[in-house]
Amino acid sequence: MNDLSMARTAPKAGFDVNAVRRDFPILSQQVNGKPLVYLDNGASAQKPLTVLDAMDRYYREMHSNVHRGAHTLGDRATTAFEGARETVRAFLNAGSTEEIIWTRGTTEAINLIANGLAARLKPGDEILLSHMEHHANIVPWQMIAERTGATVIPIQVTPAGELDLDSFNSLLGEKTRVLALTHVSNVLGTINPVASLIKQAKARGVITVIDGAQAVPHFQPDVQALGCDFYMFSAHKLFGPTGVGALYGRKQLLEEIPPYQGGGEMIERVTFDRTTWNVLPYKFEAGTPPIAEAVGLGAAIEYLGGLDRAAMEASEEALLTRANELVETVPGMQVIGTAKHKVPVMSFKIEGLHPSDIGTLLDQQGIAIRTGHHCAMPLMDFYGVPGTARASFAFYNTIAEVEQLFTALQKVQRLFA
Ligand code: PLP
Repeated sequence: MNDLSMARTAPKAGFDVNAVRRDFPILSQQVNGKPLVYLDNGASAQKPLTVLDAMDRYYREMHSNVHRGAHTLGDRATTAFEGARETVRAFLNAGSTEEIIWTRGTTEAINLIANGLAARLKPGDEILLSHMEHHANIVPWQMIAERTGATVIPIQVTPAGELDLDSFNSLLGEKTRVLALTHVSNVLGTINPVASLIKQAKARGVITVIDGAQAVPHFQPDVQALGCDFYMFSAHKLFGPTGVGALYGRKQLLEEIPPYQGGGEMIERVTFDRTTWNVLPYKFEAGTPPIAEAVGLGAAIEYLGGLDRAAMEASEEALLTRANELVETVPGMQVIGTAKHKVPVMSFKIEGLHPSDIGTLLDQQGIAIRTGHHCAMPLMDFYGVPGTARASFAFYNTIAEVEQLFTALQKVQRLFA
């Protein structure tokens, strides 16, 4: 699926989707009298038993605050928490755990970086992002631009939903200070060629920020191979818990930028005259962190490491291929986002139908999809739609579920025709 997606673990060979589904207890329930077909993974993915068990065990056996060091439970909690940080480091192939910061998720990580870079920005500077960004990678930059006098400039996308490289080449220039790009579009599923764009930006000394929220559930990025300065993701989209995410930052830059929040943990020494900061990564981790959630994220990554990545990606690709084959069976259905390199996400509209009606009628048939603007209003404006319906698949979805989706869409379309 992507040249940077090779697994670095030695997992079981092959991929048995039915066996995998047994690891996700939530999937085997009925919703509205029908077996649940969960196709809203882009919004939030489901959790395997190993994640639930790891968090449960953490609370049953080892919970205490971390880094306080005065007793055994505190040591156990700290070991589990820092072990999870190492798991994230290995997952991203970062050079050191000093470069892995716990955040509440992608949104907080982008805010942390945008605020941290504010002091480097001045009137006339340009922050380059794209027309396909999630609001989480637009609004924090707009807020910083307002504070500093910098300007936010969007790279255009093509009608197929790919980054317009001519637009990128013409916009990357003398004034560009930051390039903030999504690795994968949450609406279109497009996998952006970030490695080459980062290379071009770095050649000009531009700081590069990659939003990996929709990439990591589908392939494993390698931040050293990518060469980016910052990379962030949310655990809840990676089969882990809500409330936690990780930020990778290049050590030198993390050392240079100021802390995001003040409080306990992030200080070295506090006096009323002068306060000094803790070492990395703690400088950016004010207050008691989401300990059980970090442990849960570690368990999610370990779970993924036990799967055959190549087989899993092939299985996901087969889901998208089957969905594409079936589009023509629904009269008036149009897919938005037909990029050559895509993760299994399908945004669509059906002539004469409002996306929210499609969502409601599918829900009655036990099928969960997302409808609306997907926190990407500029992209909706580009396509001239108020919103779309979106089916986003995960590795635990089956071809039969794809077919159920289309049978249900045919029914919905007939109802309104
Ligand atoms: N970036 C992208 C591409 C997303 O899809 C999302 C969530 O849908 C976010 C950022 C924000 O993630 P979170 O709400 O977990 O912070």
